Amino acid sequence: MDAIDVIRAKRDRQRLSDEQIDWVVDAYTRGVVADEQMAALAMAILLNGMDRAETARWTRAMISSGERLDLGAVGRPLVDKHSTGGVGDKITLPLAPLVATCGAAVPQLSGRGLGHTGGTLDKLESIPGWRAQLSTSEIAAQLRDVGAVICATTPGLAPADRKLYALRDVTGTVESVPLIASSIMSKKIAEGADALVLDVKAGSGAFMKSVPQARELAAALVGIGVEHGLRTTAVLTDMAVPLGRAVGNAVEVAEAVEVLRGSGPTDVVELTVALAREMLRLAGASGVNPAEVLASGGAYETWCRMIAAQGGSPDAPLPEAAHRHVVEAPADGVLQSLDAYAVGVAAWRLGAGRSRKEDPVQHAAGVLCLVKPGDTVERGQPLLELRTDTPDAVPAALAALDGGWRIGDDAPPAPPLIIDVLR
Ligand code: URA
Repeated sequence: MDAIDVIRAKRDRQRLSDEQIDWVVDAYTRGVVADEQMAALAMAILLNGMDRAETARWTRAMISSGERLDLGAVGRPLVDKHSTGGVGDKITLPLAPLVATCGAAVPQLSGRGLGHTGGTLDKLESIPGWRAQLSTSEIAAQLRDVGAVICATTPGLAPADRKLYALRDVTGTVESVPLIASSIMSKKIAEGADALVLDVKAGSGAFMKSVPQARELAAALVGIGVEHGLRTTAVLTDMAVPLGRAVGNAVEVAEAVEVLRGSGPTDVVELTVALAREMLRLAGASGVNPAEVLASGGAYETWCRMIAAQGGSPDAPLPEAAHRHVVEAPADGVLQSLDAYAVGVAAWRLGAGRSRKEDPVQHAAGVLCLVKPGDTVERGQPLLELRTDTPDAVPAALAALDGGWRIGDDAPPAPPLIIDVLR
């Protein structure tokens, strides 16, 4: 087999055979196929696509590049959730302990943020003492004892994806539905859950800017899950507006704790409950009502145990930013829009996110959205609070927010948060 033949085949819009796919993924992982050859193939795939069977085989080859997590006997159904990423998306934090409290086990292997979308591990690392790196046996033990784990992916899971994703990141080949879908699903399938709920986001703050694009990705993800015998549902959700009021790291943890204590923003509560219902349905544990458990504060104790099991102090104060800057309403009216991408970029520039994988993040940096679309505002009322340890970052954050919100005379109809469910 030769890399050039595989590249030419996809360049000329042919289907790749199973043998070609298995060979090229394996050879790339072993360093036999060079980065520039894989970059050319990734670009050919981005331009000419892969059909459902090719995508399923590509996913299988990436899973086979590493180990499958063996979590042993946990004693409850294992169900996971994955979000395609958004602004203010802290849903995993209340969701994992909620679903565990309702009777399923949640192995949530997560990543760090890159660019304007936050990463779950960065958020949790703002809790003093909390540790992201766990061994497989620690993950299994915590699933048995607590029912929920949120931790870093283990190095042996889908190494082909790790290498290919880094290459796509620097070659303009991230935005390919078959490559995104196989990347996400190879890691999730290798993780060994029985069922998976995907939160596929559409809107300015998401990967997929439009609902049709998000629907195409959702269908590809569910298709791969079905091919691999993983019970999979995709929930299409709106990401035109930040989720909740907090965007950053520690500020999002604080908001997640509010939700776990039975209050918090209604959109965060609505999405947490909807995803929990879907996860419990797939896990065959739909006897418990997650809305009641959340409202009663019943999942908070599981959260505290989950954080403590990984060395964190759930009661310790979260870091506070050294500097705050408030953006005020210039006129009376109604907030008509608040752009998720603008807020995400502002939080990133304030220090909440990173530009390169190796950059540190500021735990206390972020943006608080003090009003949301549809809220009435008065001239001089605080709209947004910018938090950072590096006040020099404020002008760049304000520039990102320029044109990112609008005040008018009346409230436009609110789009639904949950757009569709694909089963
Ligand atoms: N997230 C992933 O894990 N992979 C992609 O390709 C895109 C987003």
